[in-house]
Amino acid sequence: MSAPKGLSLPAITQRIPDEASAYKFLEELRWGDNPVCPHCGVVGGHYFLTPKNGGRKTRTGKVTQRRLWKCGACRRQFTVLVGTIFHRTKVPVRTWVLVLADMVSAKNGISAREIERKYGTTPRTAWFMAHRLREAMRAPEFRDKFTGTVIADETWIGGEPRNRAKGDPRRFGPSTKTPVLSLVNHQSGEVRSRVVPNVRRDTLRAAIREQVDLANTALHTDNAPVYTRIGWQAASHETVNHIAHEYVRGNVTTNHAEGFFAQLKRSIDGTHHHVSVEHLDRYLAEFDFRYSTRRMTDGQRMVTLLGRANRRLTYFPSGSGSSLVA
Ligand SMILES: [Zn+2]
Repeated sequence: MSAPKGLSLPAITQRIPDEASAYKFLEELRWGDNPVCPHCGVVGGHYFLTPKNGGRKTRTGKVTQRRLWKCGACRRQFTVLVGTIFHRTKVPVRTWVLVLADMVSAKNGISAREIERKYGTTPRTAWFMAHRLREAMRAPEFRDKFTGTVIADETWIGGEPRNRAKGDPRRFGPSTKTPVLSLVNHQSGEVRSRVVPNVRRDTLRAAIREQVDLANTALHTDNAPVYTRIGWQAASHETVNHIAHEYVRGNVTTNHAEGFFAQLKRSIDGTHHHVSVEHLDRYLAEFDFRYSTRRMTDGQRMVTLLGRANRRLTYFPSGSGSSLVA
């Protein structure tokens, strides 16, 4: 896949005035000059099926600008959408590309509300699109464990009951904050976050061990007691004293994680306002993705996400119906 550098949202908008150009844009991003048959994997030598009379008719008689290819090897037909999360979508591909560009370039992400307003979709479609893209941002389940220098830190996401409006009975209810553990790999810049049931020592230890090869890791944490017993299993363990507002000491730092958390909280408060615990892991996937790819250009980030989108969803968020078709 080619990675167009500095592909800004206005530039993309200009490049794709209609559906056909949106398809072409995706083809270029995904395949470069050589289309790949999603059925048999053969690269290049495929036929572009030129639409007759300016477009192909769908079953309902509507003219479509869908760009259709025929494989030179297995003779089956395909479009650039086959095998991606965009497969069988009813949303215009142009809208998908613009929302995708929005999602990778906006520092705080884009809310369903903004999609609805900007692109004139229904609230339901906007919700589907946002969550489907977040789902695509989710990293593969089986990944190598972190080694090298790893920063572990936890934070609490969610509102305090006492900040609710006067008269709201939940104002005196229990705290609804949810603990989140983030692990930042200092070398690669990758971050992995997850909701944890609590911040007890055993819980954090298990969650860290799952993702970190402790024997080959220099672990950096704050000096909270929960971490002290985890550290002795690591190659080394350094702590900074957060209570004394010490975030950096030599090259011992949890600053990476602090920066990530600050961004996450700003976004959840500012852009999304309220994120239910049920959906929090998907927002974390979005923030992990954006943070882990922060050294990339927007164009490179789009290509990376398209690569991740190169799989069909077998799971879709509850409450959204069973259909995978947005
Ligand atoms: Zn084929």
